[in-house]
Amino acid sequence: MKSQAIYLASRPEGEPTPDNFRIDSYELPEVLRGQVLLENQCFTVDPYMRGRMNEGESYVPPFEVGKPLDGGVVGRVLKSESDKFEEGDLVVSDSGGWRTHAVLESSQLRKVDTTVFEPSDYLGAAGMPGLTAYSGLFALGAPKAGDTVMVSAASGAVGSLVCQFAKLNGCKVYGSAGSDEKVAYLTDELKIDGAFNYKSDKPVVEHFKQLAPEGLDIYWDNVGDEFLEAALESMKEHGRIVSCGMIAIYNAETPPPGPRNLARIIQKRIQIKGLLVRDHASLMPEYLGRLAVWKKNGLVSWETTRFQGLEKAVDAFLGLFSGENKGKMIVDLK
Ligand code: NDP
Repeated sequence: MKSQAIYLASRPEGEPTPDNFRIDSYELPEVLRGQVLLENQCFTVDPYMRGRMNEGESYVPPFEVGKPLDGGVVGRVLKSESDKFEEGDLVVSDSGGWRTHAVLESSQLRKVDTTVFEPSDYLGAAGMPGLTAYSGLFALGAPKAGDTVMVSAASGAVGSLVCQFAKLNGCKVYGSAGSDEKVAYLTDELKIDGAFNYKSDKPVVEHFKQLAPEGLDIYWDNVGDEFLEAALESMKEHGRIVSCGMIAIYNAETPPPGPRNLARIIQKRIQIKGLLVRDHASLMPEYLGRLAVWKKNGLVSWETTRFQGLEKAVDAFLGLFSGENKGKMIVDLK
């Protein structure tokens, strides 16, 4: 039996193009004791995967040229050689994505409960991006009621949840996004206190100062670059920056020079805390319990942008860098 998969054809220089990928198939290995064969239902494409397309050391190993890409997946068990899973079980795994079928160790799988969440939610709000928002905001951002919070890439998978969790915590919340429609989603549907389209003419720092003239207690950085510089300029004394992502520079061939105003860190005694979601994996059960209650009570919601079919996976991935998604970007196979 074969699996179709998206392979890394070559390493991108700067912005990836469809030529960096190819679709191909490979013979699935025999399912050994302790393993299962999955028929994948949907998989995730995430900004961090851009870093894995580069050579070099990081917190996850790089993808290998000539091998399939990898990532989170929800699939149905087609065959099980494990006592823990039966044929028909729906499971989620951090590995086995970007392909139609996968043979995985049972230790890599968790059953998913679809009574509360949709299967694809386990790759979004009820998965890694959701835990990123929850752990980063509460463990690192330490929000207090009344704090002013600014979130960049606020309509995405992580950002839209950070906004809502901060609102639930009694904060005043502002956000940025790349279209007027996303700005309307943030203010009208997620009911945050204000938002701006960063693709308008004005520099980001002017938007920050106009929306929050009192200054920021917390800046949630998904973007880096001009946004980080604007935040340093706009923080209150003793403000906290949660450094979650820097998507504005993931495709840069040469990293841009850093913010020109780093001295603000000293002047305002700003704390900048780097976030890596896997450091907070133990919070997942607590988080899922709270998320289920928030969802049931209509206090938190999320969007999913879906691309259909393996052949659309590259478009979905590249779409993360052009803002095609609102909420979580998912590739559906079924
Ligand atoms: P999103 O769902 O937010 O998708 C990415 C979004 O980023 C796009 O929709 C786009 O929205 C915006 N964007 C793309 N390019 C730019 C740019 N040049 N400048 C400004 N905005 C841009 O992705 P995620 O929620 O999965 O991830 C958000 C961030 O969090 C990423 O930086 C990611 O790497 C990081 N992350 C970090 C983790 C950690 O452990 N530290 C874990 C998970 C994610 P728009 O239309 O608004 O431009």
